[in-house]
Amino acid sequence: MSARDEGLQAAFERGCLVMGKDPNETSLEELIHGLSDAKQRAQRHLDRNERLQANFFEHAPGGLVMVGSDMRIHVLNSGVRAVLPVVPNPIGRQLSGGVPFKPLVEVISLAMERGERQTRECVAGRFDLLIRAEALEDGGAIAVIADVSSIQQAARARSDFVSNVSHELRTPVTSILGYSETLLARPDDLDADTLLMLEAIDRNANRLTRIFDELLDLARIEARLQEMALDEVDLRPMIQDLARTWSETADLRRIELMVELPDHPLVARIHIQAFDRILGNLVANAIKYSPNKGKVGIRARMAGSRVVVEVEDQGPGIDPAHQSRIFERFYRVDKGRSRDVGGTGLGLALVKHLCLATGAKVGVRSNPGHGATFSIRFPT
Ligand code: ADP
Repeated sequence: MSARDEGLQAAFERGCLVMGKDPNETSLEELIHGLSDAKQRAQRHLDRNERLQANFFEHAPGGLVMVGSDMRIHVLNSGVRAVLPVVPNPIGRQLSGGVPFKPLVEVISLAMERGERQTRECVAGRFDLLIRAEALEDGGAIAVIADVSSIQQAARARSDFVSNVSHELRTPVTSILGYSETLLARPDDLDADTLLMLEAIDRNANRLTRIFDELLDLARIEARLQEMALDEVDLRPMIQDLARTWSETADLRRIELMVELPDHPLVARIHIQAFDRILGNLVANAIKYSPNKGKVGIRARMAGSRVVVEVEDQGPGIDPAHQSRIFERFYRVDKGRSRDVGGTGLGLALVKHLCLATGAKVGVRSNPGHGATFSIRFPT
């Protein structure tokens, strides 16, 4: 047998093996037929898979759009068309041309650039949308677009209710506060018992005013009525200013406020008032929950693409069971202690919502009995 014949014989035998036939009982014609059938079956299988995939994309709940590494649209389902402007025949076009909606293009570009999942809430006409984009291994990205209008409406209704109630209750409390302050301004006209009672009225009216103000602020932030535009700022002078502001309160309890900052600028994208409020709340808590003569540390550093600011104290710390709940409004680990130190139970809820509204992330770690460290990661 020549080498060529040997090759053909080997191919024939391999074909029979693939088809599960005995080479001694199979003719070449039968083998060709069999292989052609197998090819058709494989093609049908592929077609069915493709149809399944197309059906899955088309009927998946919400919008799905997939782009290649060149930002050309590979897949786009009807869920996208339902909530965003889409040109006719968008497949194969650049995303910015096929779906002219800037937040979608931005969030997908960012996911591809950073190689990590990106989430953005935005408004498109009458829809409140939540877009989540994920980079794919081959360089493209996929985005899921959820219509969260009904959830947002419920949140707005709750927020409106809380603002209205807070506003209505704040007015009579302001009047009580006015009277108590006027009476307390003339302590000589009052006997000792009346003075004590008036001081309690004044203290509690002040506390109520603070609670209503913070509830109103929370509702405003949640409803995103305030424009939370971000600026690129070196955080070091802001942290120094904040430490100076709180040094007097710390001195009263002989608490040492230590600031550790690098020599180079720490530029992050922040909302200036929100930053002051976030860090102010964390430093206030660190001082509030610290023992007299304790130490409170404020540190900042670069960590990957974020600037991390940490506030560390030597207070009672927070048990892991409570750590995820302390950011809920009115959640306190120890109600009595919180009240004694003048807490409203809303400070960390405000911190969480301000972080959410400005692209920052807050976290806590603690070794109970040995203090707590709150950290905020700001975008750059
Ligand atoms: P509050 O006004 O009660 O301090 P916050 O919302 O600021 O309310 O904090 C919620 C709860 O989290 C507090 O009541 C307290 O139990 C706990 N907490 C916050 N910061 C600290 C801290 N630095 N050390 C220990 N516990 C803390």
